[in-house]
Amino acid sequence: MSRFFIKVFVPGPFFEPLTYSTDAPISSGIRVTVPLGSREVIGLCAGKANGPEALDTIKSVISVIDDEPIISTQHQALVDFASDYYLAPPGDLLLSSLPTTLRKGQPIPKAKTETGHNNSPAYQLTKDQRDAIEAVDQTANQFQCFLLQGVTGSGKTQVFSELIDRTIKRGQQILLLVPEIGLTGQMMSRIQDQLDGELCVSHSGIADGARTKAFIASARGVADILIGTRSALFTPMPNLGLILVDEEHDGAYKNQEGCRYSARDLAIVRAKQMAIPIVLSSATPSLETWQQAELGKYTRLRLSARPGQQPQPSIRLIDARYDRPRDGLSEAARRVIRHALDHEQQALVFLNRRGYSPILMCTDCGWIPGCKHCDAKPTLHRQPDSLWCHHCDHRQRPVSICPECSGRNLLAVGHGTERLEETLAESFPDVPIIRVDRDTTARRRAFEKLIQPVIDGQPCILVGTQMLAKGHDFQKLSTVVVTDADQGLSGADFRSVEHFAQLLTQVAGRAGRHGATGQVLIQTHRPDSAWFDKILKQDYDHLAKAVLLERQQFNWPPESHLALITARATSSTPVFEALEAVANQIRALNSPVRVLGPAPAPMERRNRQYHGQLLILGKRSLIQWVLKETGPWAYKRQGKVMFQLDVDPWDLW
Ligand code: ADP
Ligand code: ZN
Ligand code: ZN
Repeated sequence: MSRFFIKVFVPGPFFEPLTYSTDAPISSGIRVTVPLGSREVIGLCAGKANGPEALDTIKSVISVIDDEPIISTQHQALVDFASDYYLAPPGDLLLSSLPTTLRKGQPIPKAKTETGHNNSPAYQLTKDQRDAIEAVDQTANQFQCFLLQGVTGSGKTQVFSELIDRTIKRGQQILLLVPEIGLTGQMMSRIQDQLDGELCVSHSGIADGARTKAFIASARGVADILIGTRSALFTPMPNLGLILVDEEHDGAYKNQEGCRYSARDLAIVRAKQMAIPIVLSSATPSLETWQQAELGKYTRLRLSARPGQQPQPSIRLIDARYDRPRDGLSEAARRVIRHALDHEQQALVFLNRRGYSPILMCTDCGWIPGCKHCDAKPTLHRQPDSLWCHHCDHRQRPVSICPECSGRNLLAVGHGTERLEETLAESFPDVPIIRVDRDTTARRRAFEKLIQPVIDGQPCILVGTQMLAKGHDFQKLSTVVVTDADQGLSGADFRSVEHFAQLLTQVAGRAGRHGATGQVLIQTHRPDSAWFDKILKQDYDHLAKAVLLERQQFNWPPESHLALITARATSSTPVFEALEAVANQIRALNSPVRVLGPAPAPMERRNRQYHGQLLILGKRSLIQWVLKETGPWAYKRQGKVMFQLDVDPWDLW
């Protein structure tokens, strides 16, 4: 019997595929079961291997799972790039990019899609919209990166719909990425309504089986369009003709577990590899993208106004030092909410903090409970009653007697969404209060169910976190109250101001998209901050220029590039010793990159471990070189110290 040799990608710290033997040839992209150490694992065939020298150490493939490949060479090329750029093992990346059922070796299911309704929009496109569509359409089958920069409510989604239609007519597929699960449903119904083709959806909120069917529908070319969150980027699409990235500035595109890739950045790579256009859209582009557009490397398409006569919302600051919030809400805020309800409109109350109250305090002695695993204060929750650390998930019963002074006067200080919900229910008993945060939307489809009355236009007040800030188009929502804007201004990260401005602009942009002019109220103790001045002008370019100038002065991105090396262990000394050794190793390379640190992480003790950091700043190519010289980084540990590499970190946490 003749023996064949194949290369197989397996999970784990392997930067090359491993060689196995088989009785018959196997094509690349086919799943196989192979022995690895004492385990059996699912791997992916990566093609023929040369006959190895030491034949007796080569193990045989245990079983072949598929008749046909489930991934293509195109797909492999994207994974190869990501593996090289993020210094992550390709097998890990490939296998984690598969839907769970396929990763576990289950058979390939039938493809499943939903059919579009092929309705025409009820309105004429604006000139801006037509120009944007033409510009992208002309670049069919060639790489070009567009920034669709349109103010909130300017009709970016309609531009997407039209581009999707044209791409399908050319016989090509479209990949549409959205940042949050909550947005896929709405985006899907809007697109599906006008679509003349087959659609499928992929995100972590749908059942594994359905996700696999969407994967197969895309990979077999049955689906014309795939709408999904970041992991959908790694879906093979043989006829891909266009990539759309909605709300491109959103942090949800950055994977924060395992390989820390940016789905937006990889989407651009994918478009380049396939020679197709890509459109990044946002009212508040990331500074990285915004700068590329300024430099002319990306083509900027503008939608400068809302369609028709619909104005941008009016934004006002409420000085919380004078109009003191009662239970979280100022008099002015109560008035605008009442006004909206009286006019059959809806209001949104925004607070980016879940739970009941951020701090529980003994008013006799000042004692505040801490988390036993972190340098953090646990948040008080009432549903159910607990002190819950949002950093390590540790929960404890809320105390009713102070352990320091035995006093019984424990006070919930400050507001979270749960408490604000309570305030609103007391003040506005005549309408439903709909709270949207991670706690109320944890269950599958919970988000869709919660916001259905909002979509239906019923009178109500929405209260919630940043989940409500993005993308949504609620017809009856006229009023937005931001209850604690000081929170955003006090962030320590170099991107804090950018993120704060984006969040405020986005949440304000939910107001008055149809009919009544939007009213936005921002409660703050620091109304004279220069940033408010810029945000209130509602001129994002002006704001971006100012932020960019600041970044240039300090040589932060996009002026330079970053890589963040984090080390953690149960005590702090080995962490710092290990990072110091890495820093010396990098400095010995004599490359012009800057190495900052080692320094403690912003929250040094987190989840029972001490965290330290090393930051590398410089040119992208030099950082890549330095990292490769000092790697491998994936799975790196040194004694008790675990390392973690983040190339182009989103935050320095
Ligand atoms: P964006 O994504 O830019 O925030 P949307 O695409 O959600 O904006 O559009 C805002 C609203 O305006 C939607 O309800 C949409 O149906 C409507 N719309 C879009 N284009 C037009 C147009 N040309 N004329 C009238 N209404 C439009
Ligand atoms: Zn006390
Ligand atoms: Zn904790």
